[in-house]
Amino acid sequence: MPTVACATLGCKVNQYESDRILAGFAERGFSIVAAEAPADVYVINTCSVTSVAEAKSRKLIRKLAKQNPGATVVVTGCDAEMARLVGRTFPDATLIVANDAKLDIPRRVADRFASRMSAEAPVTSVQPSHGPRIRRVIKVQDGCDMFCTYCSVPLTRGEVRSRSARDILAEVASAVATGHREIVLTGVLLGSYGRDFCQSQATGEHPGSGNAVEDLPSLIKEIAAVPGVERIRLSSIEPPQVSERLLDAAAQIAAFTPHLHIPLQSGDDGVLAAMNRPYTRSEYRDLCRRACSTIEDLAITTDVMVGFPGETDQAFENKLDLVREIGFTRMHVFRYSPRPLTVAASRTDQVPESVRAQRANRLGQVARDLQLAFARRYLGRTMDVLAEPLRDSPGWLAGYTPNYIRVVFEGRPSAVGQIVPVRLLRIRGAAVLGELS
Ligand code: SF4
Repeated sequence: MPTVACATLGCKVNQYESDRILAGFAERGFSIVAAEAPADVYVINTCSVTSVAEAKSRKLIRKLAKQNPGATVVVTGCDAEMARLVGRTFPDATLIVANDAKLDIPRRVADRFASRMSAEAPVTSVQPSHGPRIRRVIKVQDGCDMFCTYCSVPLTRGEVRSRSARDILAEVASAVATGHREIVLTGVLLGSYGRDFCQSQATGEHPGSGNAVEDLPSLIKEIAAVPGVERIRLSSIEPPQVSERLLDAAAQIAAFTPHLHIPLQSGDDGVLAAMNRPYTRSEYRDLCRRACSTIEDLAITTDVMVGFPGETDQAFENKLDLVREIGFTRMHVFRYSPRPLTVAASRTDQVPESVRAQRANRLGQVARDLQLAFARRYLGRTMDVLAEPLRDSPGWLAGYTPNYIRVVFEGRPSAVGQIVPVRLLRIRGAAVLGELS
């Protein structure tokens, strides 16, 4: 039986698509092996969102091709798209596949292995991401048209396209039936879900319910109505798309986890305007206040970029002030890197790499302090935690509360995949320790 391995870089959308690709291989009789194990086929689902992600993608392709000279190496994802746009090639790739054709990779590759397949290849059931059945990431939308001046994603992912609610709900029902407790909705511009549906489109209906699904809040309501759905989380939503309707739906739906990831990027109005981000710092602050007053125990997490061209020391201090004021419970801090074909890449006022690094370190320290300060507020409280194995620590488990506090606690392997009550006890180093109660 031929073997296939898939390495995924970048976002949850890529993760979802890799799971679908592996499922397609399993249906065709391939055996799935770990990402860097010896295999007949490697799929590398690349990312080009930063220069670091792009370099990692290319390094991995070279490494896998060198380790396994006879293997079929398939390169797909945003770096494959970017390479096409700028006329770059992947000398080690057997096949380069566009983002919108990647789900067809198993069929295209299986044809090459036809002689090695038994007449009746067994159909293996595939476990997305090869982990225990805990959470299922489901892509509901693709594409972005915000055109932030630093970002190449609109070029590599194309225009906004929403999946039909019927397909999404069927996937949710299947995830629940196979034991998944948490559904994570993801998309490139998640909050734009449904914007491309036109009135006559019948695909926006929940089969049998008769309710039209025209936007993200109505989709969430339909998902919450699927029997057995225990948790719904959003991967990331842009500030202008956090509507009153969304906040009200989040507050009313018991399965919706009190957690919103809302990218900030900068806390300085001049930098936000130069980034083409459609909000000011005071609008962002007001949005967070509204969200916190609508949703009890809400955690707000974010992405923050440092070193955008022209970011002065004062602009950076403005960002630090806003970050502290809002009290993000987790922050993904990343350094700006010029992306090909973007407006910001052609600016002459690039911030030196050493300054970007210093700012990232300072902001990273603030992020760690804020994260622990938020967790401290919940010490002594018993919260529901979705239990997961803790790597290399027999007898210990870890998991997230609904508002995204990661807790480590002693427990049996049989609890993995269950939602269990855990009392948050203390903070040791960067970890929150708890006990089953
Ligand atoms: S919202 Fe901005 S940063 Fe996010 S994918 Fe679209 S253009 Fe890129």
